[in-house]
Amino acid sequence: MDLGLNGKVALVAAASKGLGKASALALAREGARVTICARTEADLQAAAEEIRRETGAEVLAVPADLTTAEGISNVVAQTAGRFGGVDVLVNNSGGPALGTFADFTDDDWRRAFEVVTLNFVRFVREVVPHMRAQRWGRIVGIQSSSVKQPVEGIDLSNGIRPGIAGLMKAIMPDLAKDGITINLVLPGRFLTSRISPDAGVSAEGDRALQERLAPLATTIPLGRFGEPMELGNVVAFLASQQASYVTGAVCQVDGGIIASNV
Ligand code: NAP
Repeated sequence: MDLGLNGKVALVAAASKGLGKASALALAREGARVTICARTEADLQAAAEEIRRETGAEVLAVPADLTTAEGISNVVAQTAGRFGGVDVLVNNSGGPALGTFADFTDDDWRRAFEVVTLNFVRFVREVVPHMRAQRWGRIVGIQSSSVKQPVEGIDLSNGIRPGIAGLMKAIMPDLAKDGITINLVLPGRFLTSRISPDAGVSAEGDRALQERLAPLATTIPLGRFGEPMELGNVVAFLASQQASYVTGAVCQVDGGIIASNV
């Protein structure tokens, strides 16, 4: 299937590693021009080079702290300046801190709101005028299986992420009037540096890591952690021309770990 992404401009947030990088790579493989951003410049440049080398795509790397309004507006402005607009936003973040309810102070909750909710709000606010102007756009938010079902040991995520599904649904009809779709993907458990610093370094290393994590994977119906590209490919589909009638959807990519019916 031709996804119709050739030449489109895709901005992928928090994309020097893990699920963001995999999403950027999947979009670049389909011919998109890609902006990636993250805080650590060396990792960001290495990811940009890896994507260019593999796909030949144009990649703009913008160092940014996405917990600030300025960081986000600068990434969007630089993307529009370089490529002439923004067609696709993949909204992603570093994620809230891990831990359980008793671990967290009011400041931790405020910080998590900034990392997850304000990140989503600010990015959508910044990209939508570009998309409305051309009456076409795709927004895909990377959230977590905690949107549908609490996950033990990540109570900031359990408390805050479900609200993004509510907000996404609330703004969806107005965006639809201008040909903009908005959807969420919910990762279950993926082999990324959030899970282990060794993840994604080499294929052999990832195989060894899968073996080490096998006891934890027994709760996943598919019996293993996900590979980041298994999420990136779903993101690229939802961002594509071919997903033109999919909006307001919450799409789990979780190896079957979410037990609820819907
Ligand atoms: P990862 O491998 O640790 O990658 C995180 C990326 O975000 C890096 O590029 C990091 O680069 C960037 N980042 C972190 N904080 C940032 C900030 N303040 N500003 C800009 N960039 C920032 O993480 P991942 O596993 O791909 O996770 C991505 C998202 O999916 C997170 O929100 C996570 O909670 C969620 N998620 C992951 C899983 C999983 O199993 N992996 C499951 C459910 C949900 P710098 O540190 O250099 O900025």
